[in-house]
Amino acid sequence: MQWTGWSLKVGRFAGIDLFMHATFPLLFLWIGVVYWLQTGTLTGVLFGLSFIAVLFLCVVLHEYGHALTARRYGIGTRHITLLPIGGLATLERMPKDPRQEIVVALMGPAVNIAIAFVLFIILGVTGGGGSAEDIDMASPALMPTSFLQSVLFAIIFLAVFNMIPAFPMDGGRVLRAALCFRMERLRATRIAASIGQSVALVFGLAGLFGNPLLVLIAVFIWIGAAAEAGGAEIETQLHHKPVSRAMITDFKTLKRHAPLSQAVDLTLAGTLKDFPVLDDGKLVGVVTQRAILRGLRDHGLNGSIEDIMTEAITAPPDADLASLLETLQQGEDVQLICILHKGALVGLINLENISEYLRIQAALSAR
Ligand SMILES: [Zn+2]
Repeated sequence: MQWTGWSLKVGRFAGIDLFMHATFPLLFLWIGVVYWLQTGTLTGVLFGLSFIAVLFLCVVLHEYGHALTARRYGIGTRHITLLPIGGLATLERMPKDPRQEIVVALMGPAVNIAIAFVLFIILGVTGGGGSAEDIDMASPALMPTSFLQSVLFAIIFLAVFNMIPAFPMDGGRVLRAALCFRMERLRATRIAASIGQSVALVFGLAGLFGNPLLVLIAVFIWIGAAAEAGGAEIETQLHHKPVSRAMITDFKTLKRHAPLSQAVDLTLAGTLKDFPVLDDGKLVGVVTQRAILRGLRDHGLNGSIEDIMTEAITAPPDADLASLLETLQQGEDVQLICILHKGALVGLINLENISEYLRIQAALSAR
């Protein structure tokens, strides 16, 4: 059992960790209760639970469709997480080439269609092909064919739902990428985001007069669209800006053979949490706050910096802030990038400083 924040690692498939969010089992509980209330039988509850289990297996395959396609373009996937509302493949970055972005986005729903096709063939062979009206989710005829039919319709519904042209759905990415052929990425994202928020408004209004679930979906789409637009805005702000404009130049360093007590002193005296480690004036590594705390637990104040330091990530002063932000957001371990000029440490950059830089830029441009 390995927990990361609110998620539990289920396993590792095709080199990608699969996580389950802590709230995910609640969905099963809810479905179990709903089917119990509707059918009043244990068979009914089992039907509901296995239906959701099979559906989420398809959701996992859908996410692997995105992840493995991205891998073909050299983009790794940090993890895939199962949430009660669906799956989420966290790619290290989005493809910059709109053609690749379209293919990555489409390969999720394509997996649904492929599974649906297989189910369709199976149902055809077993002679279970009825019309949609035969399927009544509230009182399912508890037969294998009706089970497969329910799954088939749900998978097709999800594929269509995913193609709604609104972030964070796959259709939103396809729309943005298609717009990118004709305009700048930021403008394309803005347009795609406002279309997404219009869709959210329509869903929300429809939900108010009908299905409350639609209101929830509307909120979800609205937040997704806003996040995407905000992300693109930030990326444009940082693009072609050298890190030397934003880096921390007033910082303290640790010596390789110093005791951990010095790291404690620096942590308490300043605002930085991670520190570069020097040996004879040359950068040899970094220590993160997490490593310092672990070191203190294991070795106490007299432990050595050398034992807890890790390899430093470095960049030149003219490195693009946008790409450094990407690096900082990518790895959970990378919280500090050391800026080297001709082998000498001249600055540091971390997420806090980039957001300070962004706030200053925003204040200046608001004048
Ligand atoms: Zn998808």
